[in-house]
Amino acid sequence: MTLPEPRPDLGLRDGYHSPQVDVPVRLNTNESPLPPPPGWSARLAEEVGSIEWNRYPDRQAGELRAALAAFHGVRVEQVFCANGSNEVLQCLCLAYGGPGRRVATFEPTYALHAHIAHLAVTGVVQGRRRDDFSLDLGQVADVVAAHQPVITFLCSPNNPTGLAEDPASVRAVLDLAPGLVVVDEAYGQFADWSALSLVEDTRPLVVTRTFSKTWSMAAARLGYLVGPAEVVANLERVALPYHLDAFKQLAGRLALEFTGEMEERVGLIVRERQRILAAMGPMAVTAWPSQSNFVLFRPESRKGGEVWAALLERGVLIRDTSSWPGLSGCLRVTVGTPEENDAFIDALREAV
Ligand code: PMP
Repeated sequence: MTLPEPRPDLGLRDGYHSPQVDVPVRLNTNESPLPPPPGWSARLAEEVGSIEWNRYPDRQAGELRAALAAFHGVRVEQVFCANGSNEVLQCLCLAYGGPGRRVATFEPTYALHAHIAHLAVTGVVQGRRRDDFSLDLGQVADVVAAHQPVITFLCSPNNPTGLAEDPASVRAVLDLAPGLVVVDEAYGQFADWSALSLVEDTRPLVVTRTFSKTWSMAAARLGYLVGPAEVVANLERVALPYHLDAFKQLAGRLALEFTGEMEERVGLIVRERQRILAAMGPMAVTAWPSQSNFVLFRPESRKGGEVWAALLERGVLIRDTSSWPGLSGCLRVTVGTPEENDAFIDALREAV
């Protein structure tokens, strides 16, 4: 007996991996270095007993969505939740993509935009950013005019470069793009401006967010988008029934009771990010300004891969992006706790 072959295009795609190595300082996946507050764990323990485990969860995730709608000052019908913002992106591709349709990305950017589109049997056209990684509106105009994408992805702040878009560039892309404009704001709370302020029922714009970063809940796998009610209704048509379990709905809803604590964590990370950038100033590295919880930099005295290995020898794991298209020689470090950042800064100083 032989096992059947999977669809032929799967062979072309490697999954998205970040090697997890057991080291003292792990700064490679842009997670929050701090756990959620103890008050949240206590509230969760208090309320978990009320879950009716023998029943399917609330299919509409009504309470969670209502809490998110109140948090963002939008209507419940404008909020869609899923298992991580990756699943939100997947639902967007399932609902708006498909055979014969295309999405557009501007590289270098978050690799999963293209990867998820491919898995959803949707074509991908990849434009380029300028050498300084800023969005080139001329390039956007050319790409969307030539390929008429159903989705144009932006990422703000952009992973892995750290740069954020401003209102003018998002508005300009909205004017140019024929389909939906998706602004992936997985790191939105670390930036000065959010495209959430532009969301309206009649505007083809959605903004995706996650509980994995600022809310310190990567283990929970919860993400959402805010967008026109009509788009949300279409996403509900492609999401599997009861895809959001009751525990996750509860965990997310309770997290929103601890907004002050979340903002304190964001404040600490932003201060630490500036400290890392300042420490890199006199070193032989080029670092890009970041509005996120990570910093992209390029060692100038040694190859990126060598510096990555030298840091690992010193017990510090960061992301080796040096062989990614458009990122030759670059490395990305996630902002950690002050102690982790000290360890990184010391190790980097020795390594370069
Ligand atoms: N978007 C961006 C830009 C990201 O960096 C990530 C996480 N690496 C995600 C989305 C996915 O986050 P999650 O699925 O954990 O919500």
